[in-house]
Amino acid sequence: MTATTTQNSSQSTAKGTLYVVSAPSGAGKTSLLKAVLGQMPELKLSISHTTRQQRPGEVNGQDYHFVTVETFQQMLKEESFLEHAEVFGNYYGTSRVWLESQLELGHDVVLEIDWQGARQVRELMPECRSIFILPPSQDELLSRLTGRGQDSEEVIQSRMAAAHREIEHFDEYDYIVINDDFDLACKDLSAIFTARRLRKESQLVRQQALLADLLNQ
Ligand code: 5GP
Repeated sequence: MTATTTQNSSQSTAKGTLYVVSAPSGAGKTSLLKAVLGQMPELKLSISHTTRQQRPGEVNGQDYHFVTVETFQQMLKEESFLEHAEVFGNYYGTSRVWLESQLELGHDVVLEIDWQGARQVRELMPECRSIFILPPSQDELLSRLTGRGQDSEEVIQSRMAAAHREIEHFDEYDYIVINDDFDLACKDLSAIFTARRLRKESQLVRQQALLADLLNQ
């Protein structure tokens, strides 16, 4: 292979990889992604728009873009979302323009979305890779969803039922990560992102200069 062919093939594969990550609540998806993305600054997390109430500690524009139902509906009309879904009575959506521009720039992007959104993204971008995070057992899930013991039995049962409805879709994903030991789950998740970055097609883009230099006689 010459440096010239290296350059030609890299031009056609300059797009970044899109990852979709889903999990039932209680699986630890947000904490895992926070830890892994903190160590992989080249991966960008998409910030969704949502109509749900901002929780204490959440920062607008950082955790979510918190918008009114009217704004969300206007954005829907303007086709601003790549995907959107109603989850637990609130609307959530992924901004199309931001995502597409990041991928065009060659950045890898992570979407932290539910199974309904994941389905829509897979239809539109079949080249995306999807990851499902599972808790290690039913008992552990129950204990994580029970929190500090301040919720009623009814609330806990409804959280368990919602978690089961999400888990039913694990089979639609490319990778399954079990979050039993947190550090191990971080390593598993990182391994998926890293393996993908090391594929020849990605390396041809990132290591263009090195390859040209090494092939130069
Ligand atoms: P929470 O409100 O607890 O942060 O998230 C509730 C659920 O909505 C989680 O399953 C989360 O992954 C999902 N979610 C967050 N943002 C989006 C989005 O942009 N699209 C879709 N489809 N789901 C989302």
